Amino acid sequence: MQIQCVIFDIDNTLYSYDAAHAAAFQKLTQFAAERLGISGADFQALHRQTNEALKQRMGPVAAVHNRLIRYQNLVEQRGGDLGLALEMNELYWSTLLDAMQPNDGAVGTLQALRERGVRVGIGTDMTARLQLVKLRRLGLLPWVDFIVSSEEAGAEKPSPALYQLCVEKAGVDAQRCLFVGDSLVKDVLGPAGCGLQSLWFNPDGQRSAVQVEQIRSLREVPGHLDDGEMNQEK
Ligand SMILES: [Mg+2]
Repeated sequence: MQIQCVIFDIDNTLYSYDAAHAAAFQKLTQFAAERLGISGADFQALHRQTNEALKQRMGPVAAVHNRLIRYQNLVEQRGGDLGLALEMNELYWSTLLDAMQPNDGAVGTLQALRERGVRVGIGTDMTARLQLVKLRRLGLLPWVDFIVSSEEAGAEKPSPALYQLCVEKAGVDAQRCLFVGDSLVKDVLGPAGCGLQSLWFNPDGQRSAVQVEQIRSLREVPGHLDDGEMNQEK
């Protein structure tokens, strides 16, 4: 089945979120020590507890990724100036955006797909504004036809609503869409359950209990556009 649209996850697929996050979180930890008087280990524990409590309360919605709410709650608990939450949010995101680098082959692959007449989409958990900013900073935005964020879909992966909106925006049948991402559950099995083809971006060669089509580099994506056997559990 010829693929006519490739839909990419963003975080840890088009760039290394883990590396950029580490740089941003380090800055945040320093800030907490200097401005909130909370030491590194205590801050990390408080951050984790606050995050878990919000996840429990909010459930799987895009706003759960809104760090401003996390920092605001954290400052509320410590009884500080709430303006600090705005500063923490700004510090985290400006550091992360500065640290981001597109993954090997990302720019060339998206460009090559578009030049072949393949539509390029984004399917991502998170809020629209930040994901658009990330794509622009990574230099990928010129090659993207459409974006579906969980904020827009009203549901997070692996909810079918998000994949269905991707297919609707792709304007082609689900089986002509190929979803590519680093999460087996969110980017491979979720889309497959909705009739899309999918490819696991697995740069470190992790083992999986389920047999799925996988790639080590984004440069391999164009080689998978004609494969009709994807997603078949052998
Ligand atoms: Mg991801």
